[in-house]
Amino acid sequence: MTPFALKNGVLHAEAVALPTIAEQFDTPAYVYSRAALEAALREFHDVLAAHPAGAGALVCYAVKANANLAVLNLFARLGAGFDIVSGGELQRVLAAGADPRKVVFSGVGKSVAEMQQALEAGIFCFNIESVPELERLNEVAGQLGKQAPISLRVNPNVDPKTHPYISTGLKEAKFGVAYDDALALYQRAAALPHIAVTGIDCHIGSQLLDPSPFAEALDRILALIDQLAAEGIAIHHIDLGGGLGIKYREDQVQPTAAAYLNPLLDKLTGRGLRVVLEPGRRLVGNAGLLLTRVEYLKHGEAKDFAIIDAAMNDLIRPALYDGWHDILPVTPRPDATRDYDVVGPICESGDFLGLARPLAIEPGDLLAVMSAGAYGMAMASNYNTRPRAVEVMVDGAAVHVIRQRETVEQLYAGESVLPR
Ligand SMILES: *Cc1c(COP(=O)(O)O)cnc(C)c1O
Repeated sequence: MTPFALKNGVLHAEAVALPTIAEQFDTPAYVYSRAALEAALREFHDVLAAHPAGAGALVCYAVKANANLAVLNLFARLGAGFDIVSGGELQRVLAAGADPRKVVFSGVGKSVAEMQQALEAGIFCFNIESVPELERLNEVAGQLGKQAPISLRVNPNVDPKTHPYISTGLKEAKFGVAYDDALALYQRAAALPHIAVTGIDCHIGSQLLDPSPFAEALDRILALIDQLAAEGIAIHHIDLGGGLGIKYREDQVQPTAAAYLNPLLDKLTGRGLRVVLEPGRRLVGNAGLLLTRVEYLKHGEAKDFAIIDAAMNDLIRPALYDGWHDILPVTPRPDATRDYDVVGPICESGDFLGLARPLAIEPGDLLAVMSAGAYGMAMASNYNTRPRAVEVMVDGAAVHVIRQRETVEQLYAGESVLPR
C-alpha cells in the first residue's frame, strides 16, 4: 500500500495531487489516505482471522495516536474496538460510532468521573495500573451498583530497546504493576465485591521494529496466567498492548502484521484466551503526511535553513523524541541539492522538522513531511498562538475536510480580561 506516490512528477495522495489540496485548503495541512488507514487495520484483521488463536480477537485502536472522528469512524465501521486513556477519548469514540463493549480503558490516572462515565457506558475492560486505582474503581462501581471488568497491566520487565520516552514495560516505568506483585494484586482484586477479574494486560513500549520483545513479554504473561489459574483465578482475555513500529526512513524495515502476530498466536493456541491488541501508530502513522510550504530560504554562514509554515506545534516528534520524518518535495526539481535544516517559525531552537536534509527547493515550494499520521495532529498545540492545521482525508479522487483549520478567534474565545 503506497498511498502517497509521484505521478507525472507531482506527489499525490491516492488520486489527488497535493498542490490541489494546498490551493484549496492552504497549508500547513494534515492529509490522510482512507485506503491506507483501512489497509492497515485489515492487515491485522486478516492475520487474526487466519489463525485459530485469533478467534474473537479484538483490535482496539489506541485513540491517542490520532483521535480525529473520521479516523475513529472508519475503524469502527470495520469492527475495531478502541483503547482509550481519558474520559474525553471515551466521549470521542462514542461520538464516532464505537461499540462501548469493544472499549478498553488504559492509563495511570483515571478520575472518579472517568470511571463513572466508563461504567455507565459499559466498556469491555478497565486496564488497572495500581492498587489505589483498583480500590477506587471498586468503590465507584459499588456506588453505581455495577461490577467493573478489569485486567491488571503487568510489567513483564522486558526491554523493548526503543527511545526511553516510549519504553514503558521496565521496572522503572510509571506504568503498570510489578511482575512480582501481580499475583497478590490479582488475589486482592478477586476478593473485591464490585470488581470482576476478566483479563491481563501489558504494553511494553512503542515503535518496536523487532517483534522479539513481544514474544518475550508474552512468555512471562503466560507463566503468570498459569500461576493465577493454580490459585483459582481465571483469565479470559489477554491484552498484548500496542507498540508495533512503522517505517519512518529508508533504512528501516517494518515487520508485517503476520511476522508480529503469528509467533504470538502460536504461543496462545489451545489456551482459549481472547486476544486483545492496542495498536496505535501502526494503524495511522504511514497513512498521513503534513503538507507545508517553504516561506523563506536563509543561507547562513554555517548552515542553510528552509523556513516552512509548519512548526513544532504542528508536529512535535522531532523535538520531543528525536523523531525522524522523511521530508519530500511535492514537485521535485532536477537541480543540485543543498543540506537544509527544515525549521518552523516558532521562537525555539527545538523548532525543526528535519536537520541537514539534502533538498533542491525554492521559496513557495511545497514539502511533504511523511509518516505524520500518528502522534502528529494528536500532539499539536497552539504555542505561539498558531491555529492548528486543517485535516483532510483523501478517498480516491475525493478530498474531505475532517477538521477545519482553527481561527485565532477560537483560540482566545474562552479567555477574558479583568473588569478593572
Ligand atoms: C500508547 C499506547 C498504545 C499505542 O502504542 P503505539 O506504539 O502507538 O502502538 C497502546 N496501549 C497503551 C496502553 C498505550 O499507552
